[in-house]
Amino acid sequence: MANAKNSPLTDEVFTRAPYWKDVPDEKWMDWRWQMSHRLNSVQDLSVIINLTDSERKALSAQGLFRVDITPYFASLMDADDPSCPVRKQIIPTAREMVSFESMMEDSLAEDKHSPVPGLVHRYPDRVLMLVTTQCASYCRYCTRSRIVGDPTQTFSRSEFDAQIEYIEQTPQIRDVLLSGGDPMVLAPKLLDMILSRLHAIPHVEIVRIGSRVPVFLPMRIDERFCEMVSKYHPLWINIHVNSPKEVTPELAAAADRLTRAGVPLGNQSVLLAGVNDSVRIQRKLVHELVKIRVRPYYLYQCDLVEGAGHFRTSISKGIEIMEGLRGHTSGYAVPTYVVDAPGGGGKIPLQPNYILSQGVDKVVLRNFEGFVTTYSEPRDYDADEIKTQEALIEPRPETGQDGIYGLLDGRRMFIEPQGFADVHARGGAEHRLRSGEQAQKWQPLGIGALEGDKLADGEEEKRQALADGEEKVGE
Ligand SMILES: *Cc1c(COP(=O)(O)O)cnc(C)c1O
Ligand code: SF4
Repeated sequence: MANAKNSPLTDEVFTRAPYWKDVPDEKWMDWRWQMSHRLNSVQDLSVIINLTDSERKALSAQGLFRVDITPYFASLMDADDPSCPVRKQIIPTAREMVSFESMMEDSLAEDKHSPVPGLVHRYPDRVLMLVTTQCASYCRYCTRSRIVGDPTQTFSRSEFDAQIEYIEQTPQIRDVLLSGGDPMVLAPKLLDMILSRLHAIPHVEIVRIGSRVPVFLPMRIDERFCEMVSKYHPLWINIHVNSPKEVTPELAAAADRLTRAGVPLGNQSVLLAGVNDSVRIQRKLVHELVKIRVRPYYLYQCDLVEGAGHFRTSISKGIEIMEGLRGHTSGYAVPTYVVDAPGGGGKIPLQPNYILSQGVDKVVLRNFEGFVTTYSEPRDYDADEIKTQEALIEPRPETGQDGIYGLLDGRRMFIEPQGFADVHARGGAEHRLRSGEQAQKWQPLGIGALEGDKLADGEEEKRQALADGEEKVGE
């Protein structure tokens, strides 16, 4: 493979299996040709690679997740080696049919968190907008295999309208993430229309696209496409590369065109057994990415999704990979390792422990080499000094989602599981120690509502008493 640093950033063909050697370059580099010549059957694939029995069996099975592979991406497969990391991502094997405990159809409960079809509103200030179920090729471990690949599940014009209307009417949304499926396989006009409608919403500050098109179909990123997206800045794109083999001169050229069009690029990888569950491979991957100006963003733990059981690793493998990256290589090249919470809790970042211990004003830390150090904390730190400057910035409401930060910020003192109060009432009656008017005795003094929130009963008086410096006398 040519070194990306020296490779000419043109439409030259570098990646093409011998089978297609007679296809004229203009055709090969035409994304429409690539899309209409995708491979999906034993017949198609057996002329490109030597299929194993397990691959044949899965390719012939009914009801498995869709198979479709662009000739460009298929050219990256090793024809004779079933352990090829590219091949494993796109060719099914019989192991896909094995079920496992905890597997789900919608493991992130996305549909449950969708106020309208295809719009997942999980975080306070941003939404995930699914705009299609189609992709340029299909990844065997796809977290959305419940809808992806199935053209009948795709979103209608009226559903786009409902998604956009929801965003228009929800001013807390400042970031819209387009995904699918793959938004970059939409008809160019349709994507243009969606981007322009989002761009027109005053409270939407940024739009991002999650796409594997630059990896499966780099020729799609042509000048026209770049011109179109550059009308909608600030627009960010996250691509999806899992193995260093996918970083080809064609991908490098596509990334170069996008970054020249002003689009910052990130990468989201999935940690996959037998594909990239290795420190050495991950280091190589992140180095290849930063060379083409793609910033590693997330490394995902594989989801509990049907068909992906054989790709799952232990979480300890992910921690080990992070241990092998942080400090060992450029901070720019280190992604955040996340588990997307089963049941719909969103992304939870994980990393090795760097805090070894804590005392009154000391924190004992260790670095990547095992060097142990002490950070002495100031004893006279005034955390209120900043308040006048802070007051100049409007707070953003996060109704119901203040979370752990809300505990630190003094909005609440505890978060309790649903039904906690009932369980702990133990079926007992209201009695003299816990009658209605006694309830305030378990309200923490001075903690609770801040400006703008509704104050709990009796809270106002207590806060006033605090402010007045009144002494609280025993009741
Ligand atoms: C991943 C995701 C986002 C974006 O999360 P970031 O951490 O901001 O990249 C937003 N909404 C949903 C539902 C997601 O799964
Ligand atoms: S490109 Fe993304 S949405 Fe499409 S199959 Fe792969 S993981 Fe799923």
